[in-house]
Amino acid sequence: MGFLVIFLTFWGMEFMAWLTHKYVMHGFLWNLHFDHHTPNKEVFFEKNDAFFLIYAIPSWLCIMLGSMFAAWTVMYIGFGILAYGIAYFLVHEVFIHQRLKWFRNSNNVYLRAIRRAHKVHHKHRDKEKGECFGMLIVPWKFLRQELKQIKA
Ligand SMILES: [Zn+2]
Ligand SMILES: [Zn+2]
Repeated sequence: MGFLVIFLTFWGMEFMAWLTHKYVMHGFLWNLHFDHHTPNKEVFFEKNDAFFLIYAIPSWLCIMLGSMFAAWTVMYIGFGILAYGIAYFLVHEVFIHQRLKWFRNSNNVYLRAIRRAHKVHHKHRDKEKGECFGMLIVPWKFLRQELKQIKA
């Protein structure tokens, strides 16, 4: 049961991340997200990192209140949000943008396809006319391109 709630929350978060990215970050909170589209190698933190806090708060509240009041579903939802945060961090900050040099490259077709899709997102430097707002759910064409490249 707990695993199922965590699993569903995790993939629900992918949808939430897509929605937030497309309509909030590239919308009325663009002033917090724009510096992620115009990277500055001199500074480690980006204003964009504020979104980690925005998602960390509900996760922390769910885990704390859920365990205080024995509301286990709520607690597992908190863990699901946390798991997504960790996955997002590893894929987006570490693997794609190399903000921490923990691992540089991968032969994993799925990871490479995620990176390819996100690089397409970064081709656009402005608020409007973006594409590939999701992270872990990748359009087939990027998987196919990576498959082809790995076979070649
Ligand atoms: Zn963006
Ligand atoms: Zn990015």
